[in-house]
Amino acid sequence: MNDLYIDGAWRGARSGATREIIDPLDQRVVRTVAEADVDDVREAIAAARRAFDETDWPRRPGAERGRLLGRLADAIEADRERLAGLETDDTGKTLVESRMDMDDIAGVVRYYAGLADKEGGEVVDAPMAGLRSVVHREPVGVCGQISPWNYPLLQASWKLAPALAAGNTIVVKPAELTPLTTIRVFELMEEVGFPDGVANLVLGAGVPVGAELASHPDVDLISFTGGIETGQQVMRSAADTVKNIALELGGKNPNIVFADADFDHAVDYALLAVFLHAGQVCSAGARLLVEASIHDEFVDAVVERTQRIVLGDGRDPKTESGPLISAEHRAKVEAHVARAIEDGATLRCGGRRPEDPALAAGFFYEPTVLTGCHPGMEIIQQEVFGPVLTVEAFDDEAQAVERANDTIYGLAGGIFTTDLVKAERVAADLRLGTVWINDFHPYFPQAPWGGYKRSGLGRELGRPGLEEYTETKHVATNLAPQRSGWFGTGQGAGA
Ligand code: NAD
Repeated sequence: MNDLYIDGAWRGARSGATREIIDPLDQRVVRTVAEADVDDVREAIAAARRAFDETDWPRRPGAERGRLLGRLADAIEADRERLAGLETDDTGKTLVESRMDMDDIAGVVRYYAGLADKEGGEVVDAPMAGLRSVVHREPVGVCGQISPWNYPLLQASWKLAPALAAGNTIVVKPAELTPLTTIRVFELMEEVGFPDGVANLVLGAGVPVGAELASHPDVDLISFTGGIETGQQVMRSAADTVKNIALELGGKNPNIVFADADFDHAVDYALLAVFLHAGQVCSAGARLLVEASIHDEFVDAVVERTQRIVLGDGRDPKTESGPLISAEHRAKVEAHVARAIEDGATLRCGGRRPEDPALAAGFFYEPTVLTGCHPGMEIIQQEVFGPVLTVEAFDDEAQAVERANDTIYGLAGGIFTTDLVKAERVAADLRLGTVWINDFHPYFPQAPWGGYKRSGLGRELGRPGLEEYTETKHVATNLAPQRSGWFGTGQGAGA
């Protein structure tokens, strides 16, 4: 239970508190881990502060930091099977998905390893003679990094890799339900030789552990991925010390299918968009908008395939979808579906727990399709974060855009059509951070990720994901000093 990594050493919580980590497949206890409280977090912040203020870490050549990150990427690749197994134990997702996550994680760490020595300063052409103007990028300082349970290590990697590449020190807090892969990656970071205090790990509940990171005066930047209400709370906590803040929040992502789309391809992707990881994906295409002329036929095809989705143990290669993360989360999903039906939606399939006794101990919920939905319904406005697809019909392009934009969210969405000119026109009108055309879900380290509207602030991945972890400093040097004559000359200002 020595699972807190603070100042280069593993230890338990000062209070001795622990937490059981549960496999959502069968509720078995996978591991018991340390549960930090405020004192542990403060020690981690102090270690990160010392490593930033008193060691050469922030001033080391970027290439050196890049080499360490490169070694970490190698170590993650070598440890892929173990890491993927831990992610499946923690989240219930299929091993296929966990392995893909690990490949993506190694990829993102390698990408920022490569960028660590690429971002030099910039000379600006000053608009006055004799002035040399240089813009430098410097690390922000101590960064608190809080991640969610749906993509535990993936979301943490989008934060820790750029932060370390830029020369910051970090205190990472994974979601309390799913800390196992983050613990393992910290073991790998220790092995590859990150200096003491540069990367620290605290485990525990949002309050007090995450809240302390968001409010502590010695934390310069807080990066948070999670739900919108928690994000608002983090923003409030960060306000007193005016921290740099990055927020990746939820989504209610439209998937627009025009009548001229390739029918079978669009049906296939309608399922992929929403049911990946049992719908517990921030960018899940949970709102299907279908052009009215093909609506009935399209919905029939989607429902037919949805009913064939195989639920089960993520380690079984035949399984297509695992359980939800917890009993509480499943209860929330069930309540959303019940309210949608009260509001007039038609349940076409799912909407219940599976009857198979072999799944009874897991937090399973059948993939669900609800038709007859409209933007006035709560289910269209709120993120469900489960295997629930709502369907709305639209009449024309203008109505599709209007409806797609009609929520407080703006994370991602898809457009299916064979008319690429129309697709680009619609993409331009969507208030979303990512738009996929004839596809859904692809993301990669080179392209920025983040939300419009209340889906978040700032961007992860790509060069913007590194810039989040830098401050910009402008240094202007007068190369030909002359008397200014402004004050105390007795001749008036500026004479
Ligand atoms: P959550 O908001 O419940 O928790 C996220 C993290 O915040 C956890 O580590 C939690 O312990 C911590 N936390 C809770 N209260 C806190 C507080 N007061 N101060 C500081 N930290 C606190 O979210 P979740 O249920 O773990 O994750 C699901 C949500 O994450 C969904 O809304 C999903 O859309 C979102 N998400 C967004 C993205 C994205 O890229 N935009 C990616 C993944 C998940």
